[in-house]
Amino acid sequence: MLLEQFPQEIRERMIPKTRDDLTYRCLGCEAGYDLSRLLYTCPSCGSLLMLVDTGFDKLKETPGKKWQRLFDSRRMLNVPALKGVYLFHELIGPHLPLEHIVYLGEGHTPVVRSNPALRHWAGTDIYFKNDGQNPSASFKDRGMASAISHLNHLIETGRVKKVLAVCASTGDTSAAAALYASYLGDKVASAVLLPEGKVTPQQLSQPLGAGAKVLMIPGVFDHAMKVVERLAQEYDVALLNSKNPWRIKGQESYSYEVAQQFDYALEGMAVVVPVGNAGNITAILTGFLSLFDLGIIKALPRVLAVQSHHADPVFRYYSNPPGKRVFEPVRVRPSVAQAAMIGNPVSMPRVIRLVEKYEDLAGEGAFAAVQVTEQEIMDSMLLADRSGHVACTQGGESLAGLKRAVDLGLVPAGEVAVLDSTAHHLKFVSFQEKYFEDSFEPEFEVVPKEELMNRPVPVRSKRAKRLPTEEDHLSGPELEDFVAATAQEVARILGIA
Ligand SMILES: *Cc1c(COP(=O)(O)O)cnc(C)c1O
Ligand SMILES: [Zn+2]
Repeated sequence: MLLEQFPQEIRERMIPKTRDDLTYRCLGCEAGYDLSRLLYTCPSCGSLLMLVDTGFDKLKETPGKKWQRLFDSRRMLNVPALKGVYLFHELIGPHLPLEHIVYLGEGHTPVVRSNPALRHWAGTDIYFKNDGQNPSASFKDRGMASAISHLNHLIETGRVKKVLAVCASTGDTSAAAALYASYLGDKVASAVLLPEGKVTPQQLSQPLGAGAKVLMIPGVFDHAMKVVERLAQEYDVALLNSKNPWRIKGQESYSYEVAQQFDYALEGMAVVVPVGNAGNITAILTGFLSLFDLGIIKALPRVLAVQSHHADPVFRYYSNPPGKRVFEPVRVRPSVAQAAMIGNPVSMPRVIRLVEKYEDLAGEGAFAAVQVTEQEIMDSMLLADRSGHVACTQGGESLAGLKRAVDLGLVPAGEVAVLDSTAHHLKFVSFQEKYFEDSFEPEFEVVPKEELMNRPVPVRSKRAKRLPTEEDHLSGPELEDFVAATAQEVARILGIA
């Protein structure tokens, strides 16, 4: 729809004006820093940085209903920079001129309601939000669009020269980083550090295809992360991990979209999120809090964090009562939810703060962490995918977590659950393969259930005189004979008359 076709009172706000009132603030010592520096931790105390919008209170002058109308109208506006996460420009990157925004098709992923059988199985209404339908096939694109757009802005305004962008990754961050960096061509070179043997072949192919330098580090993700942190401290590089607060900003769009997709009525809803480095849960909590603060939503949804029993530091922290909680990193064991296989989540200090605030506003129980088994993750993923979804193992983890929460009484009957399916099923097919071939290494503790297994069936009719080969595709009566005999054999296997 053309700009001049929107009603007068909304038209002047459709193209956002830029404003420069964001700063970095240290989560530890509260020191403030200017946005033009490439900073990821506080230079004076080493704590994480938050982005503080000192102009946020001015946004409250606009009534919640007007924000709703603005965001809903913008969905019809065909301006590429505002088609992705920057549809919520005022909340995600108000300092960015539209021409510096990098849009590769991210965000606005569909919510798909589950069929009655799956809803019955879980005991609540269920919607999967398919974040695997982002350009690099995971939610990481939301944060990467934001981090790379900000970097592009610094480069285009001459504050940063050609830069090397680095990240450590369980697979999906590197896929997103390499994709978005490649779009900027010569302006940004990208290098990704992966834990050797701990990403799927599909995930490995993505940064390779996008032309990033791919470096394999011994150990698990936590080791690669430590190396990248050292690089960011001692060298002039741009860090694209979720330590980078712009990543979190972009990922807030998930909450904004959930609100929009449910017409801003989030009462009686539960949003279920698999947790690894805890960047996504940080963003999702922050996003809902901002919407609530602006009066765009009138109720905060329940938020459930899900972790595997093989990588569960956040669950362990919250399994103690308030006052008795001490954070301790865990040593991870192999997990099919490999993208969340993290023992020392970088954003844990952010989560601790946010959860306090969230529960203050929404009441006790508005946040909960649950733990599921590897077995439950695999079974749930297959159950979802047999019910019309394209869930990855982490999406399966969301479903398993919802089921656990319902069983524990953390989610009352009648609630509507939105499950974050964080990546596309196809990135994690190697775990499905292990399941179907019963070839899981014992450490995974997954025993396939016969009723969920599936295998291809070779068809070789004994009645066919000849079978086609690579060299001889058959023709005439021989082909006719092969087709007839094989059709008969297929009918026999399928038991059709
Ligand atoms: C990164 C990732 C996660 C974990 O998100 P965090 O922000 O690290 O907690 C979950 N699922 C997928 C598919 C991921 O790529
Ligand atoms: Zn500090």
